[in-house]
Amino acid sequence: MTQTITVIRGDGIGPEIMDATLFVLDKLGAGLTYEFADAGLAALEKHGELIPASTLESIKKNKVALKSPLTTPVGGGFSSINVALRRQFDLYANVRPAISFPNTKSRYENINMITVRENTEGAYLAEGQEVSADGETAFSGTRITRKGSERIVRYAFELAKSTGRKKVTAVHKANIIKSTSGLFLDVAREVAAKYPEIEFQEMIVDNACMQLVMRPEQFDIIVTTNLFGDIISDLCAGLVGGLGLAPGANIGADAAIFEAVHGTAPDIAGQGKANPVALLLGAAQMLDHVGQPENAERLRKAIVATMEAKDSLTGDLGGNGTTMGFAQAIASRI
Ligand code: ATP
Repeated sequence: MTQTITVIRGDGIGPEIMDATLFVLDKLGAGLTYEFADAGLAALEKHGELIPASTLESIKKNKVALKSPLTTPVGGGFSSINVALRRQFDLYANVRPAISFPNTKSRYENINMITVRENTEGAYLAEGQEVSADGETAFSGTRITRKGSERIVRYAFELAKSTGRKKVTAVHKANIIKSTSGLFLDVAREVAAKYPEIEFQEMIVDNACMQLVMRPEQFDIIVTTNLFGDIISDLCAGLVGGLGLAPGANIGADAAIFEAVHGTAPDIAGQGKANPVALLLGAAQMLDHVGQPENAERLRKAIVATMEAKDSLTGDLGGNGTTMGFAQAIASRI
């Protein structure tokens, strides 16, 4: 059975890492058909808008997209394209695995965790934000809902169930922010009670940060609100060797977008120096999502084997390979 996915080649290093990723996916024989769509600077130049209607239609139809990093032009009243896509498709779960790979600069070798971040509410919506006329006071509101908390915590537990993971840690600050973080924690406890087979742990965010740095191997799945999730997932990326190895998925009820967490890296764009692994790992998450966990595992194993052999690694990993050379080395191990 073939599955059509929307492919957005993106800006900066985007096209290079996407070409490399599709090369490996083709080697995998995952039976995917690609529908190419534009977004970002490439779309602005071609169609006069950052997210053309045809791109939205394509994602709506295929329900799955693989996306390279996009440039949102600074100034000119443009708001973040990634945020706009999350809103448009109500992609409420931001899912960021952090897994140790061999031969990275990481201090740890045994990390295997996933951060599940609520993507649609909380502090980042900055409701009613304003700075007073005299510039002395600023305000920004935080709204947390039962519905939003329930669906993200349920997502985390279902993910634990479907991937054989054993523990979910809810990260919060309910001791101080009793209203919003308190509601999130109350709902997390209610949802957790429905999954007695999975261990549930609560952890205050400041302690969670310290524990992550001191004993990261104790974590399995972390579920948390938008702002804490943003910070913690980057912290976790740092624990396993940086953004070049960090994928992310944005998942909603009707659509899902898979990506690399890093940006467009204009400093190395067009030079064949970019590491394609973050996007490849995003593609592995996508394969899990479309019901191909065996292919996802084959892909991850080929990446690990290539890094173990230090074959054609890109500069960020201490090698002098090219983007496509690295992809070919990975493909040869599939
Ligand atoms: P943007 O404005 O799109 O966020 P940026 O350059 O500010 O771009 P990143 O793209 O995340 O932010 O890049 C941060 C640093 O990490 C840069 O020095 C970049 O070259 C490097 N980098 C990011 N992604 C990769 C990658 N896939 N391979 C190698 N280096 C990378």
